[in-house]
Amino acid sequence: MDHTKINLLVKLQHLDNQIESIVSLQKGLPEEIIALDEDLKFTNRQIESRKKIADDHLKLRQRLHETIHECKNKILNFKEKQTLARNNKEYDALSKQIEYEEKEIAQAEIQLQDIVHAEQRALEIQKKGRQLITENRYDEITEEMMPDDVLLQQLEDLKKQLTLKKEELESIVIETAEDVDSLKIKVKEQRNIIQTEAKRLLDKYDHLRSGTLQNAVVRLNRNACSGCNTRVPTNRHTMIVQGGFYLCESCGRIVVHERLFEEAEGSTLKK
Ligand SMILES: [Zn+2]
Repeated sequence: MDHTKINLLVKLQHLDNQIESIVSLQKGLPEEIIALDEDLKFTNRQIESRKKIADDHLKLRQRLHETIHECKNKILNFKEKQTLARNNKEYDALSKQIEYEEKEIAQAEIQLQDIVHAEQRALEIQKKGRQLITENRYDEITEEMMPDDVLLQQLEDLKKQLTLKKEELESIVIETAEDVDSLKIKVKEQRNIIQTEAKRLLDKYDHLRSGTLQNAVVRLNRNACSGCNTRVPTNRHTMIVQGGFYLCESCGRIVVHERLFEEAEGSTLKK
């Protein structure tokens, strides 16, 4: 049996494993970054909407105070005119105008009270949220219960975390880019060799790896396929030990002796 063909394939698997182990260093980081970014946007939206409410309240309050001020001036003016009124009719007409302005003032004051109440309510709700936080009852906290300062702190924390994770990922990518590139070239060369020397084995390898599976060629470990732990029949051990391969009946992986991987490692290091 020609064992050199399987050696070529083991070497390919060894190179692919090396790439996989480098890429796995950044595993999870891209997903973590996306999740953090979403949290950050969500927190930002909450803060912005609170700012808008506070802003609207401030503007309305200013407008209402202006209205009250104007009404009071008008009343003073009308009262002055009353002292100069020449008859009852003129006096009563001015009284009606004063009454009207007084009603305007009363309405504005009610609106001012409404704002105060809304703000007090918001604070009460946040107070409840703060209480829940001290009791670690985070599940029960609604959006509006989050105290303003906690929300701002959360925003800062998320920004920091996001920056750190991005830097971490970037440095991994930069550090490993050269290695990954050179491994990819080696993989390509190795594939070209197998393409001419053992095309069927390469097809088998690619077929096995077409799904999520990365390790198409695996070691015999304690007399079992190390891909799925199914026992390899005893009568096949000799062939594996001699440097041949066995197709696992359970998972279809190509099982070889550990020595072949050591040899592959040795040959890739020499290059
Ligand atoms: Zn198996």
